[in-house]
Amino acid sequence: MGDTVHQFFAVKAKIAAAEQEARREAGAVTLVAVSKTFDAAEIRPVIEAGQRVFGENRVQEAQGKWPDLKQAFADIELHLIGPLQSNKAKEAVALFDVIETVDREKIAAELAKEIARQGRAPKLYVQVNTGSEPQKAGIKPREAVAFVARCRDVHGLAIEGLMCIPPADENPGPHFALLEKLAREAGVEKLSMGMSGDYETAIAFGATSVRIGSAIFGSR
Ligand SMILES: *Cc1c(COP(=O)(O)O)cnc(C)c1O
Repeated sequence: MGDTVHQFFAVKAKIAAAEQEARREAGAVTLVAVSKTFDAAEIRPVIEAGQRVFGENRVQEAQGKWPDLKQAFADIELHLIGPLQSNKAKEAVALFDVIETVDREKIAAELAKEIARQGRAPKLYVQVNTGSEPQKAGIKPREAVAFVARCRDVHGLAIEGLMCIPPADENPGPHFALLEKLAREAGVEKLSMGMSGDYETAIAFGATSVRIGSAIFGSR
């Protein structure tokens, strides 16, 4: 077994253990395998080992490798986890099955337009900048609940969940707790939180999906 596949199974086992530890149902947490910077030849063994849900942070990079893989494996679910520019909304709606980074009015409007035009509706999450970091994408926590409502009421978009990336130098627990609270207030079910360094903590705080790159594919 290659390193990557070995690490993939190790991560799966740790997710299962963390679910049990947190008294969550087995299988409650979806693994999003983050394959950014890795090419199709490196991704394929993980698909063949049974993984179907993947995350990419750039539309253009994903367009270079995923159309062929999606053709070969029909049940792939591809998540966009990086910032979306409004001039890429068309490509994003065409390729991705879940877009986790809706974070402003203009993107919501563009996505609504493309979804209507293409007749293809990816699931949508709102990204929340839980640490209010100036350089980071995501809507401010105090605007998040109203923004989810505006996506629905003004743009006709069904938002299914929230996503966050806590500040790198802080204890992530309070950020996961904040995201969980905002999701409850906004009335959405899905919580995308937790990466290679903190996914077990995120599972304890109620993550429904964890986005894991380097613990599976190695350092970038
Ligand atoms: C790269 C990335 C990840 C995965 O990070 P790792 O630390 O390698 O697990 C998760 N979420 C987002 C938004 C990313 O860009």
